[in-house]
Amino acid sequence: MERNIVKLQGLPVDTFSFDDAMQYAQENHGQVITINPEMIASARKNKDFAHIINDAELIVPDGIGVEIGLKILGYNVRRIAGVELARKLIDTYTKNKKSIALVGAKPEVIEKTISNLKSECPEINIVYVQDGYFKDEERVLEDLKNAKPDLLLTALGSPKQEVFNYRVKKLLPDTLAIGVGGSFDVWSGMVKRAPVFWQKAGLEWLYRTIKDPKRFKRIFPTLPLFVISVLQERIFRKV
Ligand code: UDP
Repeated sequence: MERNIVKLQGLPVDTFSFDDAMQYAQENHGQVITINPEMIASARKNKDFAHIINDAELIVPDGIGVEIGLKILGYNVRRIAGVELARKLIDTYTKNKKSIALVGAKPEVIEKTISNLKSECPEINIVYVQDGYFKDEERVLEDLKNAKPDLLLTALGSPKQEVFNYRVKKLLPDTLAIGVGGSFDVWSGMVKRAPVFWQKAGLEWLYRTIKDPKRFKRIFPTLPLFVISVLQERIFRKV
């Protein structure tokens, strides 16, 4: 399967459908990045982070912001929710008897996540678990090297999780590593996703902001600035 990459704000985004992204990820291993406007804004200021994104094996458009940005540039690409892609990867890896590691989130969150996953997928083969508040990264990397998971889910927030997974990729080239942001909070039941109607309308960000107003400062001014910047990109491209 060939990648069809488009550029958004100078960064690559894959245009796979959900099912094709699933298949490509499994066939190619390496690092999966679920990109959003905040990450794009951060990569434009941070060369190392931009390099990590450019070097990733798969970059999926996570959320309505990236979908709108791509639409402005004339690309019709459907968004892929990272939380759904990651959850489907767990099911598939479990079905194929492959091993899984989870790193990230608060200790009580990861504990509850594990127990929920075990009851949803009794066959799950979890070979390593570590909460996200460790100081000794070298020790965690060493542990992972020994555990050799086929699939690693990292929930450290961005760009921390992408930097961490990039290091893992260098140590474990046969592992598929994906940064999953707040997914453990959702799977543990501690955070609820927006009702499906809000998700379908592309308004999950609004729902989450209403529920947790502290998130406002994450989308403002990043989201409107992102849209303005993409509009500029389109005008510039036409000249
Ligand atoms: N997190 C962590 N270690 C850290 C910072 C964050 O494990 O040093 C976890 C946090 O507990 C949460 C997840 O990372 O479960 C995602 O955090 P956040 O919601 O800030 O990320 P995003 O919304 O960007 O995915």
